[in-house]
Parts: sequence; structure tokens; C-alpha cells
Amino acid sequence: MSSGLQTLVVGLALLVAAATTGLLFHFNRGVATLSLGPLGTLAGPLAALVLGAFASGLTTAWLTAATRRLMRGALALRGNRRRRLRDGAQRLRDEGIERLWSGQTAAAARLLERAVERRPDDLEAALALVDALEGLGDGARAQRILDDLRTALGPLPRLLARLGDLHAAQGNIGAAIEDYREALHRLPASPHLLERIAALLGTSDHAADAIELARRRMACEPQGPRRESAREQWLVLRYRALQAAPNGPETRQALARIVSEFPGFTPAILALVDHMIRAGDQRGAERILDEAARRRPSGAILERLREMAVTSPDATIRRLRVIASRSGNALAKLVLARTLTAAGHLDEANAELAGMERTDDRGPEHDLVTGEIALARGATAEAAHEFQRAAAGPHRAFAYRCAGCGRVEANWQAECECGRCDSYDWISATYGDGGVVASK
Ligand SMILES: [Zn+2]
Repeated sequence: MSSGLQTLVVGLALLVAAATTGLLFHFNRGVATLSLGPLGTLAGPLAALVLGAFASGLTTAWLTAATRRLMRGALALRGNRRRRLRDGAQRLRDEGIERLWSGQTAAAARLLERAVERRPDDLEAALALVDALEGLGDGARAQRILDDLRTALGPLPRLLARLGDLHAAQGNIGAAIEDYREALHRLPASPHLLERIAALLGTSDHAADAIELARRRMACEPQGPRRESAREQWLVLRYRALQAAPNGPETRQALARIVSEFPGFTPAILALVDHMIRAGDQRGAERILDEAARRRPSGAILERLREMAVTSPDATIRRLRVIASRSGNALAKLVLARTLTAAGHLDEANAELAGMERTDDRGPEHDLVTGEIALARGATAEAAHEFQRAAAGPHRAFAYRCAGCGRVEANWQAECECGRCDSYDWISATYGDGGVVASK
């Protein structure tokens, strides 16, 4: 409505009100008395009383509307303030997480502390703060943050899992298992939780429980690398449980089952071979090793076959010949040459080396075997020269390296200190893999 029209409407309304008031006074000239109860009475012209009552009604309506508007304004102000605080806390959280990811842990912790102070129920900010505090080595404060969060938000599975992680990192395995179990109770098909509990139980005295949970995890994992990793965990837990099992047909059968399910799993193959030899089944043990070497002539299997030559040299040499010629593997040929040398077949050993090129990746192995043949021939100076050359090479001859952490060992290890199982192979067999620098 335009202002001119508004003035006209207000003017007309005032004119009507003035006319109505005049008419009221004209037709009601008498005096009326209005009783106000204990407050007494009010006397005056009837029209004045009616107009007064009307005016007081209008005033009450205006006051009510004004109060309502005031309250709405106050609520809006409070809402705006809350929104501003929430936006501010969110900005602090986002910046804190960005700093955490870029490695500025101390700065991240300061920002995230402020974000959590403003919004104690922000799960993302609190979990990021826990990460930062853990990174700064303040596990106790991280624990307090998680406890407060649990009080504020209740036992959320993600929160319980983080508590479990923290307890596990602090070495409190019992508490960690309890946290994970509580989380799993709320999310029974979580492969992440199943994986973590199985791993922790596997390191304690609950092997059967660990194996069962790893089996459940396998059923919960979709296809792809995660499923493969679940299978591997199940396999390693079963193998570890059998490590502590007594000698006997049951243990042998269980190991044989693992080998038939996972034919490339070297720790189970070698454990089965040991059990069979202890049970007097030398031929069975040789057969297992032979099959494994034909599938993949890895360092540990070839070395174990070479050891067999002590008790049955001719049979072992025959097997190694077949393996070396079928696989065309240079390292298998070198093992054959070593075995032939130890058995006194020096010409045949030399013949194996004759057609082989000395390459960088297996240089030390080549030098060592050449030295061994020279020594067996009685050429000590030549042998010493070859041994020296082998020792000066880029890696120790026939030494093993963990594919996970690069740790080097003179002898094959079923498990590495880094937690990996079946991760060791000859350095020369994995030369240049993973960029891990070989050390002696
Ligand atoms: Zn390792």
C-alpha cells in the first residue's frame, strides 16, 4: 500500500471514529456508574465509559502483540548466537583436521581442543583430537576425551572401537578386547571389529576364539583385497594355534588341511615337513617339499630340500635337477650346484654354473657357490677370492628379507617382528622389489 493511500485510510478511520464518538455522546447524555468491586465505583458519561473500555481492550491487544514480538526477537537472537557458535566450532574442527593431515599435530590439537570445548558432542572433532593427542604421546588426555564423549553420546560402536584402539596401543589388551566386544555386540557383522578382536585374541591365549572370529570376518567381507586379507588372517591364526599343538596325527592332519587349502603358505608346509620327519615319514616329507618347490621354488623350500640331501643325497639331487630344469630358476640351479658340491659331484656342479650368467641380483650367491666348488677342489686361493667377492656384494648370499618391513635375516623366519607371516624370501629372489634397501 502506498503512503498516500495509507494516510487517506488512516484519516478516514479517524473521521469515522470521531463521528461515532460524537454520535455516542449525542445519543447517551446520561451519567452511568460502573462498579469495580473492592476498588470502588467509577461514574461518568455512558459513552466515555464505553469508549474507555474499548480503548483499554485495544491497549491490552497491542501489549500482547508487542510482548509476542519481543519474545520472538529474543529467541531469534539466541538461535543466531547458537548458529554462529556452531559454525565457528565447525570451522575450528575443519581447520584442525586439515592441520592434522598435513602433519602439524600440535597446532591441530590446539584447534581441535577449542572445537570440542564449543561442541562437546561433535564426534568427528573429538576423534580427530584423540588422534592428535595420541600423536603427541598424550594417551591419558586422549582417554579422558573418549570417556567424556562416551558419557555425552553413549556407547557408539565407532567410539568404542577407538577406545579399543587406544587401549591396544597402550598395551592394555584386556580392556581393548572388552571395548571391541562391546562395539561388536552393537554391530555384530562388522568385519573391522571382527578383524581387530581376532588379531588381539590371537596374541593372547584364546586361539580358538580368534580363529572363530576370523572365520566370521571372512563371511562378512565382500570380495576383493579385504576378503583376501581376511582369508590370510584366518590362515595365520590357524597356523599359530598349531605351533603350540603337540606332535601327533591330529596336528599333522590339521597342517595338511592348511597346506591343501593354501598350497603356497610356506610356514605350514615347513611345519608339516618337520612333523612328518619327527613321525618317521621321511619320504612323505620329501614329497611335500617336492610338490611345493615345483609350484614355486622359494628360498625356504629349496634350502629345506638341500638339508634333505644329508640323509638322502641322490634322491634330493634328482628332485632338485627336475625342479631347476622345469622352473628355469637360476637360484634353484645354484642350490643344485651347492648340493652336488657337498655330495662330491664337482664336475656336475661346475656344469650347472657353466651356462649361468653372473648378474647383480644373484651375484653374491653365484660367488659363494663358485667358492664352495673351488674349496672342494682344493683351490683355496681361488675359493678365498670368491668368498671375499661374495662378502663384498650388495647383499649377504642366500639371506632372507621381509617383504613387509625390509628386515634382513640370515635364516628364513616364518613370522617377522613387524607382524607379517610368510613374508621372508631370498633377497636375490625379490631383488629390487618394494625399494627396500638390502642390508647385511
Ligand atoms: Zn617384517
